Amino acid sequence: MEIIIGKTAGFCFGVANAVNKTNKLLNENSNMFCLGELVHNKQVTEQLEEKGLNIIENIMQAKESVIIRAHGTQKEIYNKAKKIGLNVIDLTCPKVIKIHNVAEEYANDGYYIFLVGNSNHPETIGTISYCGNNAYVIENEENVKKALQSLYESKIKKLIIIAQTTYSLEKFNKIISLVENNLKNKDIKLEIKRTICDATRLRQEETEEISSKVDMMIIIGGRHSSNTNKLYEISKKNCENSILIESSKELDINKIKKYNKIGIMAGASTPKKSIDAVVEKLKKIC
Ligand code: SF4
Repeated sequence: MEIIIGKTAGFCFGVANAVNKTNKLLNENSNMFCLGELVHNKQVTEQLEEKGLNIIENIMQAKESVIIRAHGTQKEIYNKAKKIGLNVIDLTCPKVIKIHNVAEEYANDGYYIFLVGNSNHPETIGTISYCGNNAYVIENEENVKKALQSLYESKIKKLIIIAQTTYSLEKFNKIISLVENNLKNKDIKLEIKRTICDATRLRQEETEEISSKVDMMIIIGGRHSSNTNKLYEISKKNCENSILIESSKELDINKIKKYNKIGIMAGASTPKKSIDAVVEKLKKIC
């Protein structure tokens, strides 16, 4: 059996930074507060909770300090934290901060903003708070019509399109084409910022490549992780025998034995030890 492991599998820069810094903080203080899960991975979350990290859903539950995760948060959270005297440990990924800055700058300049992303994702919830009142979240191609309707009703003549850092590159390009086609012959200035992060893009491209040449594909990552789910979607399109697992415990060796070539890819919040555990289990069959 041949095993192909994606070179881009596992922690991205932003997640590694957030996890390492939080671990360091917990070594010094075993009672820290984080607004929402630091990363969308069960194993990582459990390990941090064991060390003393309290995951809170409301900033009012924090005492003394609060960690802002790699996905970032809403603008008003910083004001609230200041008001109640909390020390903010901001671990928002620099790439997400960059999008917040772009959104704020263009909103102040009178642009209408289309934010392409999952409306329930913490990153999108954070970013939309920087977009002002003239913004629309486009989750998929079906939303484009309503987004355009809302733009036309606003009478605003300047539009910018940005995306959640972990959105699907393929779907983003389709949405851009739909908007461009619709704006033809309309007096509206269009700007596009390709804010999908490189780490996401490379991982999606590698998943596309590996999944098209293997008999079976294993995607490792949290079921709530947006980027992991995108990898699974890409993989499933090319390889019917694709599975998404959170840990090696979910692997059924008997069902895997028959495959000759197995590909492995992992989401941006999947720790190396989860990937190693899967590889070890597969090597036993070999
Ligand atoms: S996926 Fe990209 S933007 Fe998101 S945390 Fe990782 S490096 Fe930052």
